[in-house]
Amino acid sequence: MKIILLGAPGRRKGTLAKKITADFGVPQISTGDLFRAIVKDSTPLAEKVKAIMESGGLVPDEVTVEIVKERIAKDDCKNGFILDGFPRTIAQAKELEKISQIDTVILVDVPNETIIERLSARRTCPNCGEIYSALDYKETTCKKCSATLIQRDDDKPETIKNRLEVYENNTAPLINFYGDMVFKVSSAGSPEETYRPVKTFLENLEVK
Ligand code: AMP
Repeated sequence: MKIILLGAPGRRKGTLAKKITADFGVPQISTGDLFRAIVKDSTPLAEKVKAIMESGGLVPDEVTVEIVKERIAKDDCKNGFILDGFPRTIAQAKELEKISQIDTVILVDVPNETIIERLSARRTCPNCGEIYSALDYKETTCKKCSATLIQRDDDKPETIKNRLEVYENNTAPLINFYGDMVFKVSSAGSPEETYRPVKTFLENLEVK
């Protein structure tokens, strides 16, 4: 089962992906996570990617596509995967068509007003990647691995605004690009409420 998760920043795509992985056994491939791992090194690529991420812009398509290609060639992807944060441009989507045949696109949607508040409150575990909301989780350490939670640099208000603009200009056109393949779900409710219709939909999906 090969799934694309589409949606602007803060739509809880990562949280949804983790639930799909748990039930359907396909790995989550988050290009954001792959880039966050890359910037930990001190290579010229790391420096370049770091500056782009801090501004809320997009890493060039060639670099991004190459990283995804390498990742989906790995053994754990042979029965499928969930692409979380990729493709983010029409050019990336066209490249993806050359390397894999996607079964469905899940559009995670919620009104813009709640997003800035949600993203500003997001706390991430730098060790295991677990995501929390400071609105309902008051601890400063991760429940799973006890690492100290951080606020991602690109979850700060000035960067969020730019990320939302980048989404509107570059990524939102993918909704039309994928047309009938898109299954839309609202993430306005709890993560469980968001997941319920997605689970039913995936259980009934015919995979290629
Ligand atoms: P995310 O965690 O998905 O919000 O990604 C964090 C940042 O990584 C983005 O703001 C971009 O700078 C970069 N990034 C992630 N995925 C992509 C992609 N598909 N194309 C270009 N840049 C990306």
